[in-house]
Amino acid sequence: MERNTIIPAALASLSLLASACGHRNAGAVADTPSAAPSAAPSATPSAAPSGDSLTITRGGARPVQRGPAEWFTGTVRIEPLFSATDSSRAAASSVSFEPGARTAWHRHPRGQVLIVTAGDGRVQRRGGPVEEFRAGDVIWTPPGVEHWHGASPTTAMTHIAIYEHVNGNVVTWLEHVSDAEYGAAPRPRIQTPR
Ligand code: MN
Repeated sequence: MERNTIIPAALASLSLLASACGHRNAGAVADTPSAAPSAAPSATPSAAPSGDSLTITRGGARPVQRGPAEWFTGTVRIEPLFSATDSSRAAASSVSFEPGARTAWHRHPRGQVLIVTAGDGRVQRRGGPVEEFRAGDVIWTPPGVEHWHGASPTTAMTHIAIYEHVNGNVVTWLEHVSDAEYGAAPRPRIQTPR
């Protein structure tokens, strides 16, 4: 039941969300050093060329959307952080999972970095053990490796996901993670100081 959700579906969920509210809509801040004014009248305005403008998207101003039931189990909120540009294929979202919530099985064409910012979670690659993680951990999922990630059964979890697109595709969604798969005894996280 694999669905290779290319641009319309996948990006609507995870990537175009970012561009929908991302840098293009944000107030661009032109970095014009105060020392810039020169005596000579310039034909160009003091504003820096658009390609040099900084972009700041404000916390709280990015629209959060619920993770679609087609690709997630449980309650998931997705906040786009930044989208790809002409010069970078990377994009990122902050994804929050309520206890028990998780992605469906999926893979990323260029892999994915997960930076865990809050709570406790679980991740599994196809054929491997369920592994526990928690805030502060960073997880790399290699290109093409099927996996899922989500909260622990009793604790919510938020991670920042960073990924690159290939011709607009950032994720291929597969089947949902069953309760039996999710509930398998995890390999305990190695203990480090909290
Ligand atoms: Mn992933």
